[in-house]
Amino acid sequence: MQRTELRTPGQTSDIRRWDWHQIRLRDCRSNSWEYPSMSEFNKWVGTMIKSNRMYPFSKEQINPHVGCEFGCTYCAFRKLTHRLSNCPDCKTYVPHYHLERLKKSPKKTEGKEFISLCLNGDISFASVNFIQTVVNYCEQWYDRTFLIQSKNPAMLLLFKFPYNVVLGTTIETNYNAIGKNNVPYSSISHAPRPEDRYRAIRRVKNNDVHITIEPVMDFHIDEMVGWMKDIPRLKVINIGYDSRPQLNHLPEPPLMKVKELIDRLEPIAEVRQKLIRPAWWED
Ligand code: SF4
Repeated sequence: MQRTELRTPGQTSDIRRWDWHQIRLRDCRSNSWEYPSMSEFNKWVGTMIKSNRMYPFSKEQINPHVGCEFGCTYCAFRKLTHRLSNCPDCKTYVPHYHLERLKKSPKKTEGKEFISLCLNGDISFASVNFIQTVVNYCEQWYDRTFLIQSKNPAMLLLFKFPYNVVLGTTIETNYNAIGKNNVPYSSISHAPRPEDRYRAIRRVKNNDVHITIEPVMDFHIDEMVGWMKDIPRLKVINIGYDSRPQLNHLPEPPLMKVKELIDRLEPIAEVRQKLIRPAWWED
């Protein structure tokens, strides 16, 4: 596998200008994809967290809840939060609160823009009282759009989120045993199975839904497309490969399969491509 220095299409090395959709594969036929080194990646994710650019159209990120115990092997936020924060609980990533952050006025959003709320960690570890406080906050700022997502979306169903909240979850695969080696999903993450997330998120009735297929792992294409078609309020699908393939070696699908998936998802919802490159095992 070729590894080259990470550059934006404009060939700048200015880390502040790096973005997910800017390091997308530009010419897969010539195999000219680009990977960050570990130190480059760490700087990049740190910048991403600070500048709130995990998703295109994310205007800013507000994290009154931080932490998660799902223990995904590919989690970058746990390590980065440990490095960047002085808070002892952030260092261990135990779920905890920074309620003072809800005193902040969120930036104005327009069109497709949104505020990422509680995305550093998983809000499903928060208390009912806390989540109700978040619901109230979103109601108070009714002219902003917020994105709240969880790998346990069944929890989101317990609350009446106002219409200006987009609800989301991650569905990285539709397999419980992934790829040629039948890697158990449970050895990658202790979150509810992707199938359980799909069954929960399809029950959202009053809010738009975003699905994130990232880091993409091998999938059954017909079933994956069927799941997406079956989510009534689905508006956006984010899709991308793992950013640290050298470290994580996830059971990734080949690039051609991901491109076919994208083609089949585009009639269903707006597809936002993030890091699209050949699988780490493709040469
Ligand atoms: S659910 Fe998200 S925050 Fe929690 S361990 Fe997995 S990737 Fe990290």
